[in-house]
Amino acid sequence: MKIGFIGLGIMGSAMAENLLKAGFKVTVWNRSSEKCAPLIAKGAEAAASPRAVAELSDIVIAMMANSAAVQSVRDGADGIISGLKPGRGYVDMSTVDAETSKESAALAHEKGATFLEAPVAGSRKPAEDATLTIMAAGDRELYESSLPALEKMGKKILFLGETGNASRMKLANNLVMGGMLTALCEGMALAAGSGLDTAQFLEVLDSGAVSNPMFRLKGPQIAANNEFPAAFPLKHMQKDLRLALRLAEELGQPLFATATINELFKSALAEGLGDSDFAAIIRTINKQH
Ligand code: NAP
Repeated sequence: MKIGFIGLGIMGSAMAENLLKAGFKVTVWNRSSEKCAPLIAKGAEAAASPRAVAELSDIVIAMMANSAAVQSVRDGADGIISGLKPGRGYVDMSTVDAETSKESAALAHEKGATFLEAPVAGSRKPAEDATLTIMAAGDRELYESSLPALEKMGKKILFLGETGNASRMKLANNLVMGGMLTALCEGMALAAGSGLDTAQFLEVLDSGAVSNPMFRLKGPQIAANNEFPAAFPLKHMQKDLRLALRLAEELGQPLFATATINELFKSALAEGLGDSDFAAIIRTINKQH
């Protein structure tokens, strides 16, 4: 099966590499073309445009920053849709809103192609280790035919029904993650501000009901408060909080804590922390006193 991969950021480059390792023929494209080089060195081919990738692939996968980025590789004369042929598949693994996915599905269907939205949970390391959770929704036949590729990127793969369901599931998941990370940082600030040992604070958390892998991974980084190289960029977390709030607005569902946490993340963006890991939110919390 010939796979196309568009969007070679933190996640996409690791996911495309796993497809190459698994023996798929992979054609790549990225806006900043230099990010193609490490994959070409490992056997990928580069194409001149998203359209060319789609023309050369049975299934084209995109892993983009946000809805604007999805549209920029999807639409127009050089976009994925222009290159899609009947019977081919378009899988969008970016975290976007349900409306963007539904638009992508409609455009793919107009070309006689199939569409699957497949956002992921798990960060840089799970992407490298092929242990992502993949939430898929859309055309069942494309889910079945892309499964051999999805299985090389993730360990848990769910089919959630119609297009839009995977986007909504992913936003609900990230709302929880943003809240947990914020709670960890506020607890850390309180413990440190009280003169407590932050290593012992993490030990206490880890031995009780709130123990979890994210606290174990991010806790020591937050306690050290040095550099925060991005595994999950803070700007993407704020995007997900914003999209979750927009969805809640449509449903009339109050999200009391998420609304406040979104304001915190907006402040962090204004402070220039967007390209840092989302754990850098501790910096904004520490500035509040
Ligand atoms: P990233 O490192 O910021 O990469 C974003 C990709 O989108 C890059 O290929 C970038 O191209 C491209 N892009 C951005 N704006 C564009 C535009 N206007 N036109 C064309 N291409 C554009 O992001 P990431 O961390 O890999 O995340 C990708 C997606 O997965 C996001 O939706 C994110 O929310 C989601 N996600 C991320 C994580 C994580 O832990 N990192 C985990 C789960 C889900 P350039 O290289 O040219 O900038």
